[in-house]
Amino acid sequence: MSDNSLRDERLSRFSRAAVTGGGGFLGSYVCDILLASGVEVVCIDNFSTGYRSNVAHLLGQPGFTLIEADVTEEFDVPEAVDLVLHLASPASLPEFARLPIETMLAGSAGTHHTLRLAHRNRARYVLASTSEIYGDPLRHPQDEGYWGNVNPIGARSVYDEAKRYAEALTVAYGQKHGMSVGIVRIFNSYGPRMRPDGRVISNFVDQALGGLPLLIHGDGAQTRSPCYVEDTAQGVLALAGSDYQRPVNIGNTEEISVRDLALMIREVAGSRSPLKHVEADEDDPRQRRPDITLAKRELGWEPRVPLDEGLRRTVAAALRERSAQQS
Ligand code: NAD
Repeated sequence: MSDNSLRDERLSRFSRAAVTGGGGFLGSYVCDILLASGVEVVCIDNFSTGYRSNVAHLLGQPGFTLIEADVTEEFDVPEAVDLVLHLASPASLPEFARLPIETMLAGSAGTHHTLRLAHRNRARYVLASTSEIYGDPLRHPQDEGYWGNVNPIGARSVYDEAKRYAEALTVAYGQKHGMSVGIVRIFNSYGPRMRPDGRVISNFVDQALGGLPLLIHGDGAQTRSPCYVEDTAQGVLALAGSDYQRPVNIGNTEEISVRDLALMIREVAGSRSPLKHVEADEDDPRQRRPDITLAKRELGWEPRVPLDEGLRRTVAAALRERSAQQS
C-alpha cells in the first residue's frame, strides 16, 4: 500500500518514471513518493551498493517494476516513460575506493545511457548531482553560481569529477536535443534505510548503538548540513515536477560541526560511547552549507524536518532493525 501522506500533486503530469539507483537509500524514497503520487515506477538497479530490502516493500505493489541492470552498459526499459531520474552511483568514500572505475562510469556512461533513454521517450530528465562538485569550497555557503574547488586526482575525484562530467553532459545533451533536463545538487542526506557505509551519520549511529567509540576523522571542526532523506527526496521530485533547467541545491541550511554531530547522536541514542579522533580523510571539505534561495523561489521547496527530530527517527529505525536482526 502506498503512503498517501507522501503524495505530491505536482507529479500528476507524469505516468511512468524510470528511476536508476531506485534500490538505494535515497532512490527508494523517490520510488515511494512517485508511487504514492500515482506515477508508475521502473526501478533500475544492479545492487552494487544498494540493498534489495530498500524496495522489498514495493515488490508486488501495482505500478512497481524492478529491472536488475547495470546502467553503465546499454539497457532498455520496455514501454514508454515520461520521466527519467538518474540516481545510480556509489555515494560514499569507502565505496569510491572499492568501486573507483564503476563510480566514474556511473557518472559518465550511466548518464549518457539514461539521457538517451529520456531522449528516445521525450521524457523529462533529472540528474542526481552532489554538493561534492563544489569540492572543498572557498565560498560559504555554496550557491549554484559557485564553480567549486575540486582536486582532480584525490580520493574523492572519481566521484566529484564524474558528477561534474555528468552535469556538463546533461546540459550539452539537453541543449543539442531540446530536451527538458534538470540537475539537483544534493547535500548530505540521512535517515532510516541508511547503512554504515562510511557516511558520517550512519557511522556514528552504528557506533553509538554498538557501544563502540564514535570515530571522528580529523579535529571534528569540519561542518556538514545534514538533510532528512524524505525532505531530500521531495526536493528531487519538486525539481522533476517543475520545468526548471538549471542546477538547484537541495539540502538543509542547519550547519553543525562533525564533533557536535557526534555528541548529538550519542545523546539521542542514549549511548555512553567515547569520542575518538582518528586521521582526517583526504580532501575532506572544511565547510558545507547550501544556499537554497533558488530551491525556495523556483520550486517552493524547503526542508521541514529539523536535525534533532530527524536523528531521533533515524536512531529509532536503527534500533528497530537491530532488534529484528536479533529475533
Ligand atoms: P546508494 O548507494 O544508497 O544508492 C545508489 C544506488 O545506485 C544503489 O542502489 C546502487 O546499487 C545503484 N547503482 C550504483 N551503480 C549502479 C549501476 N552502474 N547500475 C545500476 N545501479 C547502480 O546512494 P544514495 O545515497 O541513495 O545516493 C543516490 C544518488 O544521490 C547518487 O547519485 C548520489 O551521488 C546522490 N547523492 C546522494 C547524497 C546523499 O547524501 N545520500 C548526497 C549527494 C548526492
